[in-house]
Amino acid sequence: MDQRRMRIALISPKGPLYRHRGGIFRRSLRYMPLTLPTLAALIPPELDAEVVCIDEGIGDVDLNLDADLIGITVITGTALRAYELSRHFRSRGKTVVLGGPHVTLVPDDAQPHADSIVVGYAEDEWPKLLRDFSLGQLQPRYVQGTGLDLANRPLPDRSVLPEKRFLTADVFEATRGCIHDCSFCVVPSAWGRKPLQKPIDDIVADIRQRRAKRAIFVDLNIIADRTYARQLFEALTPLRIQWYGLATTLLCEDEPLLDLAARSGCRGLLMGLESIRSANLQQSHKRFNHPDSYGRIVQMLHERHIALQGCFVFGLDHDTADVFQETAELAVEIGIDLPRFAILTPFPGTPLYHQMVQQGRLLTRNWDLYDGQHVVFQPTHMSPETLRRGNEQAWRYAYRWRSIIQRLRHTGAPLHVALTTNLGYRYYAHRLHRFYTCDWMTGFNPLHPDLPMSLSPEMSVTGSNG
Ligand code: SF4
Repeated sequence: MDQRRMRIALISPKGPLYRHRGGIFRRSLRYMPLTLPTLAALIPPELDAEVVCIDEGIGDVDLNLDADLIGITVITGTALRAYELSRHFRSRGKTVVLGGPHVTLVPDDAQPHADSIVVGYAEDEWPKLLRDFSLGQLQPRYVQGTGLDLANRPLPDRSVLPEKRFLTADVFEATRGCIHDCSFCVVPSAWGRKPLQKPIDDIVADIRQRRAKRAIFVDLNIIADRTYARQLFEALTPLRIQWYGLATTLLCEDEPLLDLAARSGCRGLLMGLESIRSANLQQSHKRFNHPDSYGRIVQMLHERHIALQGCFVFGLDHDTADVFQETAELAVEIGIDLPRFAILTPFPGTPLYHQMVQQGRLLTRNWDLYDGQHVVFQPTHMSPETLRRGNEQAWRYAYRWRSIIQRLRHTGAPLHVALTTNLGYRYYAHRLHRFYTCDWMTGFNPLHPDLPMSLSPEMSVTGSNG
């Protein structure tokens, strides 16, 4: 490398639904992701590197970009796009590093597409990789060891992304991981079941320096460790902020903790309700959810001015063709502020994926379609087409004007927040069909229009990843 400053580009690639042109995530649904700001902050200061960050959800990648090293974060739904970009930049002599959930779940899938990969969280391995690179000693693979500690880490550098393109940049993270083992979830498969926690003082300091009035916590299960959650909520209370986050339904079985969350400013929670069929919940190891209690959960949250984003997944083995309308009607009837529906996706590396492979039910390994809104496996009691249409039908029903009005009559959220997010999801619900009619499977792929197709989008189950 010459004597000029090292240049590092960090890219978050687009997926079918989340992309700059033609995507369906409006600004009202888009908060600043923390991955690139975290990676940027972890670059060792002594390298004195210039950094540029590109989120393809909000802007285009300059294919002529000048960088010594390009880091790309990869989820399964963006893996093919990441591999395309990597191939392009490597053909121009750039060094490309891949990391993120997909790389952690199936490192051997990513390895051939990069000069180096990072498996696991980045906190220790990413700075080590960069130091090695600066010395000309880059290794092909960096694997996070045991005993990772999130204390004494730099705060995310949010200045690397354009704040105005997001609903908010006041996004925080207190914990990582989850203690549960839902069979469809990537979290326990990728990172194990021991949650990691940041020092609460660091989070409070970050919120204070941002002067945040409203905060979004991206933690996958903020109550995974209830003692920590209690301490966190107590520390948030004097800040007098409103905050939104993710928790399991178990929070509503612990009223003192729920009360504390409400007092600390919690105004909205995402909960994975997953299914209205108990047999599905049993089978997927989410036994602590009880469909009979969903109405009561909404009520308990609303009594504390907390809105519920309730997520359901379709396609589990006990779903039949009537599940879509029943689920959507229940969501409207019990007043879920923001219902969300997804198609079951067997992400590689998860127990569900292994089960599907074993049963010969996987229809494709085209990772572009692993986005939670396409069918990539053979359902038990219906055709893939019925599953796809049923999911769309549920979205449309829940986001009819009449349904929105009915659901928001007793909303727990400030009305303007509830309305803005509902309008964002109404836009999404009525445009989902676009992503089913485009020609993903056969030829022109709108996700990769600017690059030659080096990877067939039809990577069938007998194809290169087989
Ligand atoms: S509770 Fe949520 S985050 Fe935890 S394993 Fe289940 S789906 Fe994943």
